Amino acid sequence: MTVADRPAIDRDALRRKYREERDKRLRPDGNDQYLRLTGRFAHYLDDPYTPVTERAPKTDHVTFAFIGGGFAGLVTGARLKEAGVEDVRIVEKGGDFGGTWYWNRYPGAQCDTASFVYMPLLEETGHMPTEKYAHAPEILEHCRRIGKHYGLYDNALFHTEVVDLEWIGGRWLVRTNRGDAFTAQFIAMGIGPLHVPKLPGIPGIEEFKGHSFHTSRWDYAYTGGDPSGAHMDRLAGKRVAIIGTGATAVQCVPHLARACAELYVFQRTPSSVDVRDNRPTDPDWFARMATPGWQQRWLENFTANQTGGQADEDLVMDGWTDIARRVRARIGALAPEHRTAPNMLAAFEDSDFEKMEEIRARVDAIVEDRETARKLQAWYRQLCKRPCFHDEYLQAFNVPGTHLVDTDGRGVERITERGVVVAGKEYEVDCVIYASGFEVGTDYSRRAGYDLTGRDGVRLSDRWSEGMRTLHGIHVHGFPNAFLVQPTQGANLISNIPHNLTEAGRTIAVMVKHALDHGYDEIEVTEEAEDAWVELLLSGGGMLLGSPDCTPGYYNNEGQELGLRWRLNAGYPQGAMAYFAYIDGWRTSNAFEGLEFR
Ligand code: NDP
Repeated sequence: MTVADRPAIDRDALRRKYREERDKRLRPDGNDQYLRLTGRFAHYLDDPYTPVTERAPKTDHVTFAFIGGGFAGLVTGARLKEAGVEDVRIVEKGGDFGGTWYWNRYPGAQCDTASFVYMPLLEETGHMPTEKYAHAPEILEHCRRIGKHYGLYDNALFHTEVVDLEWIGGRWLVRTNRGDAFTAQFIAMGIGPLHVPKLPGIPGIEEFKGHSFHTSRWDYAYTGGDPSGAHMDRLAGKRVAIIGTGATAVQCVPHLARACAELYVFQRTPSSVDVRDNRPTDPDWFARMATPGWQQRWLENFTANQTGGQADEDLVMDGWTDIARRVRARIGALAPEHRTAPNMLAAFEDSDFEKMEEIRARVDAIVEDRETARKLQAWYRQLCKRPCFHDEYLQAFNVPGTHLVDTDGRGVERITERGVVVAGKEYEVDCVIYASGFEVGTDYSRRAGYDLTGRDGVRLSDRWSEGMRTLHGIHVHGFPNAFLVQPTQGANLISNIPHNLTEAGRTIAVMVKHALDHGYDEIEVTEEAEDAWVELLLSGGGMLLGSPDCTPGYYNNEGQELGLRWRLNAGYPQGAMAYFAYIDGWRTSNAFEGLEFR
């Protein structure tokens, strides 16, 4: 169908429908609907991939300790090594580097943002991603490559969880669950926004007598197959339930559909699933393209395109940049005198309606059963939930034996000894797979699993009792020599998290080198600079994720009130491009405005 053939969009009808679908899903318990994985659920956290090895506790001193061995720790460690800081120790709860890519080995896992911008330090390590959207094993291998390339394995502690961090005698005391009690002059934390798996609080969940696991701890011993997508032969003849239809389920359902006798996909809210169009990288093209500085150019180009900045070309050209391309085109079509805020918001809404209509039409075109197709259609704005892109997910519902069990926004009713109940009907299964996501929006120290005690015995959880307060998303007043590596209160670029991390890593390395070169013992943000930064963030509401009008999810605090705490999850008011330019100027000026070096 050409654009001209398309029926006109009935905006009011769509707004009404979106509201109805959201209201159906609002529930008073918000984040409390999910279960913490403690007590009888703790085994859901066990590491199925690497056996734990014994080691003696560490009681030594290091210059820099990093909590978390995912991209944040790797890129910060890399930048520190480049700056000549050799003595870096990464502490990681998994059995190797990788973070989210260590844990998430479910079949079909792959990056959703183009590899050329998603995988950090490609140029430095000389790696060419084999696909536009690399699969998980390649990304995990790349994490190991960074670890080896920069010598980060030498001092790393794996299968080790920090339990407490205390500023004592001008250094940080790091205590862990392995009995370590070592000190560090500097610490940084990159715990990942989504690292604690959660289970839905469905009545009866502990009663199920069959097998069950969370997607981030995939049990290949039970299913057969492997993370590279080999056929899961042990599921032959098995009846399997998967609960949840977010980005994870979208990637693993096609594999399950091929392997199980019967697959029941339990859906509360459908994902929007746009075209993926993955393809292998042509080495000749890559060799021509990858001239010095190429990855930084790609990063800046993607961010400019994705966040509505100025760019002459679109190097990535995919569903992420398409969203912004459409909005830009509509705004560009407005006469300059009509480019008012309401008109721009209307252009944004119109582009979104158009895009989502296309995505719904795609479901109709692919899914054969009319009723199933209808139920797989998403009724909300595209960025209300994590947009998904896949070329086999919708097709999986045409595979005999694959059944969509839609719960009409209510969720699974109950779990019994034998299976899963929806609308009074019990679906007997051998295995339940929870694709139910990760804790988001809960307190930092709860998700981290430790608290920080800073200067004068102040705890971070108390300092942040009203919400997060930082300078640049990196420094907290009262917590000298401690840095955060994460997107919030910085660029807040959600479409490409690693870009936020590489910039933060670079900033930290420059500051630490400055302190070491000049013989300073401490770096701390002043209270005034922190306050001013927070005021700036609140003045713009820039790049704040989620809206109360959206269907509930972790982007909008499950539809609960978005008070000050939530508003503090903002990014730089002028957007990600402007933040990256600002922070580059800040760190290269060598003035480090807002910090005290002592
Ligand atoms: P999500 O939190 O996105 O999805 C959880 C799913 O479980 C939702 O569909 C949710 O429904 C459903 N659910 C929760 N409770 C119930 C219930 N009681 N009954 C039925 N269904 C229920 O988790 P994911 O692991 O899919 O993804 C988490 C995030 O990880 C993504 O948003 C993305 O940021 C990242 N990710 C990125 C990938 C990539 O880049 N390649 C791949 C996979 C994940 P509802 O929507 O109604 O809440």
